[in-house]
Amino acid sequence: MPRTPDVPALAKGVLDGSRAVLARAITLVESTRADHRAAAQQLLLELMPHAGGAIRVGISGVPGVGKSTFIEALGTRLTAAGHRVAVLAVDPSSTRTRGSILGDKTRMGKLSVDENAFVRPSPSAGTLGGVARATRETIVLMEAAGYDVVLVETVGVGQSEVAVAGMVDTFLLLTIARTGDSLQGIKKGILELADVLAVNKADGDHEKDAHAAARELRGALRLLTPSSAHWQPPVLACSARTGAGLDDVWAAVQRHRATLEEHGELAQKRADQQVEWMWAMVRDQLMDRLRTDPRVRAAIPELESGVRAGQQTPTLAAQEILGLLGMADPAS
Ligand code: GDP
Repeated sequence: MPRTPDVPALAKGVLDGSRAVLARAITLVESTRADHRAAAQQLLLELMPHAGGAIRVGISGVPGVGKSTFIEALGTRLTAAGHRVAVLAVDPSSTRTRGSILGDKTRMGKLSVDENAFVRPSPSAGTLGGVARATRETIVLMEAAGYDVVLVETVGVGQSEVAVAGMVDTFLLLTIARTGDSLQGIKKGILELADVLAVNKADGDHEKDAHAAARELRGALRLLTPSSAHWQPPVLACSARTGAGLDDVWAAVQRHRATLEEHGELAQKRADQQVEWMWAMVRDQLMDRLRTDPRVRAAIPELESGVRAGQQTPTLAAQEILGLLGMADPAS
């Protein structure tokens, strides 16, 4: 995208549902160039009144659990039922050229050629904050273009889940039965984010194990304080391969969304997410300035070694760094 983009034309194309324009608009919000960033914000301001209409679902699980198989199976069911489905991904480690999460479209062969679906790989490698920002902004574009289901896939490692949980209505955690202990491999923090859990690969020889794992997980969840007084996360079993149980998983997602709406929690949740996003951007940009400011970079080795050697107090060193950014503590 070499020229400064024509924002009104992009806005019109997105609202008309043009796939080509939508792809260009996503490339624009993913760009880090200053003039692109400014144009992207104009575009988002124009489109925001047309956004918000989708059911936003995060889908997580460790690699191999069956996320792409699940999204392909669920997505094609949803488009067959008349929905328009957007599939996005948050994977800060990905590069588009190396086979990564959603990196090659063959992972979702049917969905990526389905005219009622739009599959977009994760923005390529960058900070989690940058990737999450682009994905949030892409959700606005997708909704303005009339997609009524937005699925955001993320890998089950690191902080990506927290970022995705902060941009969706319902967070679905996929897991599989593991002999002995189905909780192994699920970090406790992730369990607390989940609104719906599904034990995948409940087919063939694994079917019994999957149902046993679901029971075990239900027991474990009872020990956690639910995040909402109105919702206890259900644990289901399904098979992305055979399609068994997929309708029940989707019904649970819809029930969660309906429960939020019924208690006025959906609007509240989305408003809170917007404010949290604003602060996340402030934090990211401050950290970015810290990392890139040449004066700070030049001063850090000496300050760190002074603190290490006990010749400098951490507080004074911190004040010196903030001072270099023009943010000295007024009390000092
Ligand atoms: P991801 O890494 O979480 O996206 O997992 P994939 O969707 O790539 O699936 C990993 C492997 O598990 C592949 O070989 C799939 O064919 C297989 N798989 C996915 N879902 C199921 C399922 O429901 N049942 C069985 N038996 N295998 C599955």
